Amino acid sequence: MSPASDATTTLLILGASGDLTQRLLLPGLGSLLAVETDRSVHVVGADRADMSQQEWADTVRTALTSTGAPDEAVEAIVAGTEYIKADLMVPEELDALLTQVGDPVVLYFALPPAVSVQVCELLETRGVSEQTRLALEKPFGTDLPSAQALNVQVLKVVDENRVHRIDHFLGLSTVLNLLGVRFANRLLQPVWTSEHIEKVVISYDEDLALEGRAGYYDKAGALVDMIQSHLLQVLAFFAMEAPGSITEDEVRSVKADVLRATAVWGGDPRSASRRARYTAGTIGARAVPDYTSEEGVDPALDTETLAEMVVEIDTDRWRGTPFVLRSGKALGEKSKKIEVIFKEPDRVPSGLHGKDVPDSLVLDLKPAAMVVSLSINAEGDPFDLEQKELVATLADSRMLPYGEVLGRILDGDPLLSIRGDVAEDCWRIVEPVLGAWRADEVPMQEYAAGSSVPDGWGAIPAKR
Ligand code: NDP
Repeated sequence: MSPASDATTTLLILGASGDLTQRLLLPGLGSLLAVETDRSVHVVGADRADMSQQEWADTVRTALTSTGAPDEAVEAIVAGTEYIKADLMVPEELDALLTQVGDPVVLYFALPPAVSVQVCELLETRGVSEQTRLALEKPFGTDLPSAQALNVQVLKVVDENRVHRIDHFLGLSTVLNLLGVRFANRLLQPVWTSEHIEKVVISYDEDLALEGRAGYYDKAGALVDMIQSHLLQVLAFFAMEAPGSITEDEVRSVKADVLRATAVWGGDPRSASRRARYTAGTIGARAVPDYTSEEGVDPALDTETLAEMVVEIDTDRWRGTPFVLRSGKALGEKSKKIEVIFKEPDRVPSGLHGKDVPDSLVLDLKPAAMVVSLSINAEGDPFDLEQKELVATLADSRMLPYGEVLGRILDGDPLLSIRGDVAEDCWRIVEPVLGAWRADEVPMQEYAAGSSVPDGWGAIPAKR
């Protein structure tokens, strides 16, 4: 193995022949290198699969090149990379691997969640160097107790600021852009409160169906797959107080404050949540089978493919504003955005006509864009108002979200990583909904694949 220079970080990928490594992690690294061409990373892959050094080098080269890393940077990584076959649940093999790779190292867990837990237990016994950092993929547990147990276990291996719980939504340009939009614009700063905002809808509607992911998705469902993790992170960025500076301790602290104050709207998951599952239909020209007939789906699990929950944030800034979080698959139109609906003015002077739609601001997550809708006179009678859109198309992300997050991890900066208490809070917030669904207190609705979100969704229930 070629020795790593002082400025080089070693990225040791555990689970190197898996889907995440090949489809997201290595392409993310490629997009990072496309921007930061002189970044020096020593990539080592470990897995129990048989793979020759040549096959591994080709895998790395193809993935890095696919996302624009320049040839020179790719070849520098390929020249130093190595694949090590190891069963990571065998203490001697794990020990030999870590000894061979040396320090400083980022241990990237691209392993099945249950294997990651067991490897963490072995790392506690073996011990790791003070420079070691752990990068953990979601899911962080499967409920609040298991998330707490995982955090306890991980902290027996390294300190919290050396744990990187990954959520690539924190690398989305629109999410990162929220900091500038919110805190650097006098126009928006004062209206970002419940006094001025009627409601906020954060949605991630996909036009893709299951696409062969039953193994994971059928056990998770839309609520856990998207809302419990990604959309709550977006909510935290949207609603947090201004950090003193853009540093990991300040930003992660104000994010945690928001989520600690977040709970199901009115405390009643029966009225504040909805679930549905797609039936057979067509999306564009594609015929999609009924969800329960998709390969690998167990109908007895009663998994939802569309979920919505309304939450409230009990802080002086947000008390009274409902936040609707929604995500689903196999919908007719994809729509991935944050919609901010403003309250009507206290009074519109008589003699002005046409003010019949509230003002709004929409932040599109993919592709990144910002649309402000205002009531203005566009033509004709100067006192006749109509809704006009001011559209800002935002630059494409400078790199893939995985690249943005990975860059911070390699630098040892947890700014874009999820803190342990936040990972637990995200389970605490959704658990009442999961409980109500398990008890069948919320009916499972149906929608045909390729159709819209069912009527009535997005409505805010009256508090009892
Ligand atoms: P895969 O099953 O595709 O990959 C895991 C890899 O780890 C496999 O190559 C597997 O080998 C290997 N492995 C399992 N046990 C051991 C062991 N004891 N020693 C050495 N290698 C072992 O999973 P994914 O890549 O899909 O997921 C990895 C992680 O990323 C999971 O935590 C998942 O939740 C998370 N994730 C995945 C996403 C995705 O789109 N794939 C998206 C977001 C998060 P083998 O095949 O022999 O079992």
